[in-house]
Amino acid sequence: MPVKTDPDSWQLVLDRLADRIGRDEVGRWLSDVDLLSRSPECSILIVPSALHRDWIRENFLPPLLEALGSQECRFEVRPRDPFLPDPAVSSPEEAEPVPVAPEPAPAAPVERIPDPDLRLNPDYTFESFIVGPCNRFAHAAARGVADRPATAFNPLFLHGSVGLGKTHLLQGIAHDLLGNDPHCRIVYLSCEDFVNHFIGALQRGDLEAFRHRYRNADVLVVDDIHLLANKARTQEEFFHTFNTLHNAHKQIVLSSDSPPEEIPQLQARLVSRFKWGLVAEIEKPCFETRMAILRAKADRIGLELPDEVARHIAEQVEDNIRELEGSLTRLTAMAALFNHPVDLSLARRVLATSSGDPGRGIRMDDILEVVCDHFAVKIGDLQSRRRTQSIVFPRQVAMLLTRQLTPLSLGEIGGHFGGRDHSTVLYAIEKLQKRRRVDGEFGLVLAELERKIRRRAQNGE
Ligand code: ADP
Ligand code: MG
Repeated sequence: MPVKTDPDSWQLVLDRLADRIGRDEVGRWLSDVDLLSRSPECSILIVPSALHRDWIRENFLPPLLEALGSQECRFEVRPRDPFLPDPAVSSPEEAEPVPVAPEPAPAAPVERIPDPDLRLNPDYTFESFIVGPCNRFAHAAARGVADRPATAFNPLFLHGSVGLGKTHLLQGIAHDLLGNDPHCRIVYLSCEDFVNHFIGALQRGDLEAFRHRYRNADVLVVDDIHLLANKARTQEEFFHTFNTLHNAHKQIVLSSDSPPEEIPQLQARLVSRFKWGLVAEIEKPCFETRMAILRAKADRIGLELPDEVARHIAEQVEDNIRELEGSLTRLTAMAALFNHPVDLSLARRVLATSSGDPGRGIRMDDILEVVCDHFAVKIGDLQSRRRTQSIVFPRQVAMLLTRQLTPLSLGEIGGHFGGRDHSTVLYAIEKLQKRRRVDGEFGLVLAELERKIRRRAQNGE
């Protein structure tokens, strides 16, 4: 995990490097470089230009790595100095006759109290965030912002596809900031909430209160900013919110499912502002990171996770950490429900039942076909009034599954199975539910039947 970096530690690295390559070279090539994070595996440097990056890499890499005490070094190019005037301001696009929101009155001194609407998930902290090659840069950038708000990178723009930890990192920043300064006024919300608040304020004619809330934040964190796509009026408002905060040296943190320039219909001046600070991508996790996340989650819930089970899940679920965690939760629930050990056979079943879309919905036919096939009985038998044991049991299983998988009432279910009344159906269902609680194998049979029924419904056979 990257250590917290401070300017002193970077200065020490530079001093060490100067002994090897000389003060002049250090002054020429490294005086504008920032150390974002440093660890024995990998350090991350922010360089002012691609030229700096290439030159340093080609000429000073071995002594630099030695001075850093790292095996590897990543370079990220800072797009431009966030405090220089924005070249986009004078672009023709800016000259469009867009209605300009009035500049806010000079901010009245605000009482520094935390935002009363701040809701954070207590689990989304930096401590619980597993760092791997896919998210090392984004994580280091987030920590940099939490350590030095409005000085390190402003705005910080994190992007990556769904379920990769953007919200987790955003909230990690908020947790850390509050830990360092409990009075810090963090306004954290989803873009959707921002849009809704704005529309509500417009309708109520109450823009002043709206602006007061957002423009007096110490730190504004907006999750899923790509939802500004196509919303011209809200973009307009956000543009002014952004400017006010940025001019006042307040930190802005944004997340999105795509980089700024790929957000559809986003005004060019917002695209350019979103790139002022640091844009960091979270990529899909590699196998090792997926394993580490599974292990950490299993530890947290006190689950003993055999290696082969972890490996199976990590192999099957590649693209989405939320799904990775969801598989583990379902596995634990199934193990408890069916009193079955957490092993490879259970993991296979759990993963097999979890994927895909819900399909056309489950019909009586799906249940009858699958149950009859499994027990080798005829559909006509299940629907008859015959009471031989070889038929009664499959019939009861079919009733239970019908109850679980369809919205049919007990009486309606009875109607499908030889005109039985609702108390007969209830009796059958309760009997099997009891059995499922004590008989793990039976639980697995039911889970398997359910999986087949769902698949049949999905494929629309
Ligand atoms: P996003 O906002 O990108 O869609 P989230 O931040 O909601 O994704 O993450 C989805 C789930 O995965 C959350 O429960 C989160 O805690 C977890 N998660 C994501 N990345 C990591 C990570 N690197 N370490 C631990 N948990 C993670
Ligand atoms: Mg999210």
